[in-house]
Amino acid sequence: MIRHFLSLSSFSNRDLQALVDRAHFFSLQPQQTDQIHHLLARKIFANVFYEPSTRTRCSFEIAAKRLGADVVNFVPENSSVKKGETVYDTLKTLESLGVDGIVFRHSDDHVLDHLRDRIQLPLLNAGAGKNEHPSQGLLDLLTLHQEFGDLKGLKIAVCGDVKHSRVAGSLMVAAEMFGMEIYLCGPAALLPVPKSPVVKHAVFDDILPVVDAVMMLRIQLERHQGLDLDARAYHTQFGLNAARVARMRSDAIILHPGPFNRGVEVSDDVVEHPKSRIFKQMSNGVFARMAILEWAMDRRSK
Ligand code: ASP
Repeated sequence: MIRHFLSLSSFSNRDLQALVDRAHFFSLQPQQTDQIHHLLARKIFANVFYEPSTRTRCSFEIAAKRLGADVVNFVPENSSVKKGETVYDTLKTLESLGVDGIVFRHSDDHVLDHLRDRIQLPLLNAGAGKNEHPSQGLLDLLTLHQEFGDLKGLKIAVCGDVKHSRVAGSLMVAAEMFGMEIYLCGPAALLPVPKSPVVKHAVFDDILPVVDAVMMLRIQLERHQGLDLDARAYHTQFGLNAARVARMRSDAIILHPGPFNRGVEVSDDVVEHPKSRIFKQMSNGVFARMAILEWAMDRRSK
């Protein structure tokens, strides 16, 4: 069976926990061992990003290289996409060229539904429309696991443009699997209707002192028309600033998938606050993606 990595929901709890544990293992290697560096020797991955990316693209590439694999970076702007080539034909081309896996990002919510049965090598979802961003989900789980150990019962406030966030999409899938509680906060127009009993709406300032973690989200303006609030008003109502951080529990942490807009959803001083794990999440992105690439190549026990 082809090991596509499309959604966290395709894993059992046990298998997802095993991926978190493997990513944690990679995070504990102070220096890269020869053994790790040969795990995916001679494999070639293609990074195919139809949407901009900094963290996800670079960390997939670094993860592949840390495991000894090579990476081809496909850039739609300089490719036959400009001559009308479709997504399917582009991926089929890469498959024919002999890559071993495709790390794929696209703005279309349903693009993977059309591709999953037609591409005969692992497709790794690096962000699909507004639905899911499962590799981000894994790195978020790793960050929470490093901080708190057991994920069960963790309470997480997710504040901002949740409706258009695939990061929140994957977190909510994982929350249901692990028994975490998710509290959605932010402008009503940007909050989805909860689809799971573990997800509830909440008032940001009320839930802040209660939760283990606060995940702040950017307003994803490329995915909708925006709000009737300017940046300053938004920050006053929903931004995480020092005054709000002071009301968080002493052991609670701050998460943000990036890119962040300083002064809008997070104040400047919060980004590198002692409670912030934002840069830790970025580092963890490499370890989570190492675990994903290894899983996709089915190399764990060989
Ligand atoms: N980097 C994340 C994503 O690709 C979050 C964001 O863009 O706001 O969805």
